[in-house]
Amino acid sequence: MNIVETENKYTSGVYAKKTLTIVRGQGASLFDADGNEYIDCESGHGVANLGHAHPKIAEAIYRQASTLITLFESFPNDQRAALMEKICNLVPGLDRVFFCNSGTEAVEASFKFARISTGRKNIVAAMRAFHGRTYGSLSATFNKKYRDGFEPLVPGFCHVAYNNIEALEKAVTDETAAVILEVVQGEGGVYAATAEYIEAARRICDERGALLIVDEIQTGFGRTGKMFAIQHYGVTPDLLTCAKSLAGGLPMGALLIGRNVKNLTPGVHGSTFGGNPLACAAALAALTVMEEEDLPGQAAAKGKYLMEKLQEINSPDIREVRGIGLMIGIEMKQKVAPYLKALQERRIIALNAGMSVIRLLPPLVITYEQIDRVVEALTEVLASEQPDE
Ligand SMILES: *Cc1c(COP(=O)(O)O)cnc(C)c1O
Repeated sequence: MNIVETENKYTSGVYAKKTLTIVRGQGASLFDADGNEYIDCESGHGVANLGHAHPKIAEAIYRQASTLITLFESFPNDQRAALMEKICNLVPGLDRVFFCNSGTEAVEASFKFARISTGRKNIVAAMRAFHGRTYGSLSATFNKKYRDGFEPLVPGFCHVAYNNIEALEKAVTDETAAVILEVVQGEGGVYAATAEYIEAARRICDERGALLIVDEIQTGFGRTGKMFAIQHYGVTPDLLTCAKSLAGGLPMGALLIGRNVKNLTPGVHGSTFGGNPLACAAALAALTVMEEEDLPGQAAAKGKYLMEKLQEINSPDIREVRGIGLMIGIEMKQKVAPYLKALQERRIIALNAGMSVIRLLPPLVITYEQIDRVVEALTEVLASEQPDE
């Protein structure tokens, strides 16, 4: 079977397919069908924080798959109970949790909970925000490229300039159910919130009786050098969405819930697969590995190392290098697609964020030797003439 041709024949069409087939992973490496090794700086869009094929995740999945895969959340279960306790101890003040199966579902739940808790309708989101592609989360997502053709979206949403306190002051009223923010905007181009902005968002929400939702789907679980990016700021949100690397690569989302969130009574929301024992066992193993291997600490140290090396690359085409931990954006003066192609030719898989930002989201277990190889390839690619498209 020709894998590329077969996928091209049967695909829905909604993905821009590459011609590189990946069949295996190990740590921060991916391997094509011929056994060629690539360094993964994309982690499946920020999923593989623990690296690929982590033995403890594989073992937990195998063990639980042969014990109990599915169980509706109305029945308590050993794996789910242990995960609930562990995840609710990560952020003081967020001591309840709703489990689901993806990032966008966590965002949807946050909006439903904000509306039912406050009895209000409006949600304030940020320009450049990305919160997902289902109707509620899409309504909070800013970029037209995700929204066009899908209107009408959900009413009650508006967008304000990010990191602009005055705009937030104006937009949040006594009819606002919630403000939703990414602590570091990922898809939007790797822009971190200022401490003043996050503190002001908390104050403004408190003053107007609105809830503060932080979307940590991309920034969570060590990516920025802390377990959650909000922990860089001394602020506790009312709702925190996470997903991506939560279950070590298995699909899972979670919404952490603070004490101000009310009216969550039986039947107001639910999910068939949410909180299934298989995903819970994987997440429990993943959180244990994150602690044992101090993945947040690794992201902080390696991020600093990588950032320093990137700052040294001398290229007139680089506009800015920015980021936090192992979430790094290199903003170029030109479109980045040709650079990504040139990197792939050098066996480095990287991601874009919009048209002009090269985004690096490697597994947090990437080795220093691998980081050096990434820097070497980037130096070659960025310091040369812009490659042809
Ligand atoms: C990836 C992402 C989502 C959507 O998650 P899915 O699992 O793809 O639905 C939402 N918000 C942020 C910040 C993300 O990075």
